[in-house]
Amino acid sequence: MRPEILFPLFAPATSLPGVGPRFAKLFESLLGGPAVIDFCWHLPSGIIDRRYGPPLAQVIPGRIATLTVQVDEHRAPPNRRQPYRVFCHDDSGSLELVFFHVHGDYLTRALPPGQTRVVSGKVEIFHDRLEMTHPDHIARPEEAESLKSVEPVYPLTAGLSLKVVSKAIHAAVERLPILPEWLDTAQQRREDWPAWAEALRQAHSPHEEAELSPLTPPRRRLAYDELLANQLAIALVRDRQLRQKGRSLKGSGHLQEKVLTSLPFALTGSQRQAVAEITADMAADHRMLRLLQGDVGSGKTVVALLAMLVAVEAGGQAALMAPTEILARQHFQTLAPLAEAAGVKLALLTGRDKGKARAAILADLASGGLDIVVGTHALFQEDVGFRDLAMVVIDEQHRFGVHQRLLLTGKGQAVDVLVMTATPIPRTLMLTAYGDMDDSRLTERPPGRQPIETVTLSLDRLEEVATAIERAVKSGAQVYWICPLVEESENSDLAAAEDRYRALARHFGNRVGLVHGRMKGPEKDAVMARFAAGEIAVLVATTVVEVGVDVPAATVMVIEHAERFGLAQLHQLRGRVGRGAGKSSCLLLWQGPLGETAKARLQILRETDDGFRIAEEDLRLRGAGELLGTRQSGLPTFHMADLAVHGELLGAARDDARLILDKDPELAGERGQALRVLLYLFERDAAVKFLRSG
Ligand code: ADP
Ligand code: MG
Repeated sequence: MRPEILFPLFAPATSLPGVGPRFAKLFESLLGGPAVIDFCWHLPSGIIDRRYGPPLAQVIPGRIATLTVQVDEHRAPPNRRQPYRVFCHDDSGSLELVFFHVHGDYLTRALPPGQTRVVSGKVEIFHDRLEMTHPDHIARPEEAESLKSVEPVYPLTAGLSLKVVSKAIHAAVERLPILPEWLDTAQQRREDWPAWAEALRQAHSPHEEAELSPLTPPRRRLAYDELLANQLAIALVRDRQLRQKGRSLKGSGHLQEKVLTSLPFALTGSQRQAVAEITADMAADHRMLRLLQGDVGSGKTVVALLAMLVAVEAGGQAALMAPTEILARQHFQTLAPLAEAAGVKLALLTGRDKGKARAAILADLASGGLDIVVGTHALFQEDVGFRDLAMVVIDEQHRFGVHQRLLLTGKGQAVDVLVMTATPIPRTLMLTAYGDMDDSRLTERPPGRQPIETVTLSLDRLEEVATAIERAVKSGAQVYWICPLVEESENSDLAAAEDRYRALARHFGNRVGLVHGRMKGPEKDAVMARFAAGEIAVLVATTVVEVGVDVPAATVMVIEHAERFGLAQLHQLRGRVGRGAGKSSCLLLWQGPLGETAKARLQILRETDDGFRIAEEDLRLRGAGELLGTRQSGLPTFHMADLAVHGELLGAARDDARLILDKDPELAGERGQALRVLLYLFERDAAVKFLRSG
């Protein structure tokens, strides 16, 4: 249960002044949450300095000024197109206030002739006259001093003005309760960090541009709090997982042996090492949670199979879950002959299997007639049951969340989990998502691969590209041609791909194919099969081919509007070629003008094809929030912490969390109690439940 002291922070937005049900909805989409605390997390992105307030004669045009003036005369316009004017003066000069589309009544009340008022806004010279159009503030003279301050500016959304947003946030920050201190006293003193509420208040009232920096003491403190909550929550879950007895899966090695002898190649050094790490982990009597990271084409699939065979050798079953139908099918096709060589029973289960076929697979899974099942999310439907599911491999590719992972592992007892990812996760991000999760890295490429030549070209040179492709195709090359996400909408996406398909058909006739996300599964498979068989020379695709498609004969990758893709995504796409022995190339076609980040992205791709380095660069260029579409992925997103700048705090938070739980595993002491509040503050309620006396 959430501690009472936090109740005001978790009250609904409508409890704030000026926030009714309609605004509450807008605020929720702006802030990403419905409660008062979400207003507190919304930090200013700029400032307006209203401290400048000279006599009128000395005002510098173009600046924001707060001016005390005497109101003289109102002049209503003869028609709606002209503005309403209010003439004012002080001892040194005169000022005209200009209003469009306003009611005179309201203005006579706000600016009564003959009285003194303070107005604040941008001053400009127009036809030699000093003007202020729509002052931001109109106040009585006694409010002059409080108006002459620095105002925070917040990121806004359509329908919410700065005034409304500022007012609500101000009220939210006014309500901050004094929370017990959860920081280590020595650390807090060393870092010179204010108390939590004070830190938030300071973060919301910057006096200088410099105070907007994420590196100021208040902002670093807030970031640290969040990272500490994150690390503490992860450590709690991990501890419980370790306390829970897992099962020791020890294989005899005889199935692995059969597969290894039937492979047409020898494992690379990193594959061997990964298999050894995984095997040792499965043999231990805790539950395995291990990440297998390796670039596209680094050979994860066979490692996954060897791992699953350990479970089968130990008498259990294993499941491999892929994010898409295409990928599940492909894994199945790769694994089927190997499974057969080992005498292991393997089946494919996807959303496409219905009726009798599906019922037969389910029956075999339940009876133990099947050893390994490969599938999509169809695997965690309720009626899917196993005789003894001992091990799960999740080909994650950032598409499954933690939730799905739990659903699947819930189908067995103390299931060992191996998560595969082809988009290497930067260390920092991995720490926040999984804590000190074990990982095995495939850093070596299978032998015989040639590096992919990467070229960047302006889209203006499309004709040249088409001609070059025509030449390549004549000499037998196969080509992927990727059309980008045009807008959010899949329709316009599709239109672009169809246009390109038609244009290329003029060059290549029926040797062009098209696949896109709207096609039905079997249709897609048919096109892919024709591409794999070499009947199709140029495959036009929206990003559906991104995940995992394996056509070793394809050697050319063309990506249109490369500037619209993320770094990791471009790297993934590029990895579709260079899989066979042939020399491969990747053409990144861009449309200018290119921003700095887009330029840097293309440059990095020309320089390297090391996925681990690319992942780090991606984090640096984009910040963790945007990375890999984190929201859908189950990777955490942060309110206060930005891993691109606060990365160094993360290690400290991890060590702190470890130390805390070593000393006080139930968070029962004084600091422990404060840390519970911290966990609830960052909505890690689930982690608190792992405490015995939660
Ligand atoms: P990933 O899943 O990591 O993208 P795959 O497992 O699909 O990579 O492997 C890519 C290709 O490399 C497959 O055709 C696979 O058979 C082949 N392969 C895997 N390991 C080796 C190896 N050690 N030597 C040669 N080829 C390999
Ligand atoms: Mg693969």
